[in-house]
Amino acid sequence: MRIARFDDDRVGLVRDGRVLDVTDHLGTLVAPGRGSLVRRLARDFTEIRPMLERLGAKAGASTGLPVDEVRLRCPVPDPTKIVAAPVNYRDHQAEMNEAFHVSALGFFLKSPSSLLDPDGTVRLPYLDRRFDHEAEFALVVGRRASHVTPEEALDHVFGYTGLMDITMRGGEDRSTRKSFDTFTPMGPWLVTPDELGSPEDVGLELSVNGALRQKANTRDLIWSAARFLAYASTVTVLEPGDVITTGTPAGVAPIRDGDTVELVVDRIGRLTVDVTAEGAVPCPTGGEGRGPVPPAAPSSGDASHETP
Ligand code: MN
Repeated sequence: MRIARFDDDRVGLVRDGRVLDVTDHLGTLVAPGRGSLVRRLARDFTEIRPMLERLGAKAGASTGLPVDEVRLRCPVPDPTKIVAAPVNYRDHQAEMNEAFHVSALGFFLKSPSSLLDPDGTVRLPYLDRRFDHEAEFALVVGRRASHVTPEEALDHVFGYTGLMDITMRGGEDRSTRKSFDTFTPMGPWLVTPDELGSPEDVGLELSVNGALRQKANTRDLIWSAARFLAYASTVTVLEPGDVITTGTPAGVAPIRDGDTVELVVDRIGRLTVDVTAEGAVPCPTGGEGRGPVPPAAPSSGDASHETP
């Protein structure tokens, strides 16, 4: 099952290029409580799922709206937290000259307010700092998870999706460098675990202005999605709707005003965003030149973007 959020907080099932709006049905099926409809759906999904499947099966091939005629939204608007893996692919560890990876670093948090809809615009805040794309495979928590084992972990997944962990390079704390508004594009929708298949064999590719920058497979994660979720749940309770993102592979590179960034995740779909530096100001913090050293910017692509 593919579950999208679209237009004015509608929730729909995606299939054959169309979105079947199930918002009104969910209004009666999902118990009241805190949080958005999707968050409560994540909480109650095991019970509600058979009814959603029946709705989907009853719908004809031409029911619903063409997916390219709706405005897709970030799949979960209000997670209580975004838990992210710092260094979780060896090739990225090497390119960043990092001495340690996830097993020594643990996780960091991104602000939930940094989430961005598909086809949104990443706003670079500063004129004088480097900002990079990071292509990631992410999941949304379903059933609450606390101190679960890696073997139990995937039973707590509501769905999988694509995520870009947009990052300012430098020595400021990760939570600062990765939490600017618009720095977490996510989508285009959630794919439930049964439909995705193994999360340990998912390809992902990220391109900037059509030039391939990152290509990886989740089989190369140092800590798998299951292991990372299990670990995170021993630190902090994972609530329905929380986002967990598994880290980026090699190929991180700068994004600049006017760029278009596209992430394609196997069996999930395509997430595209634009980049603007409109309104950018000088950076008020002095972390430039400190922290992990990123790889040099690739020379291919639009030469007019290269810094003199
Ligand atoms: Mn990352």
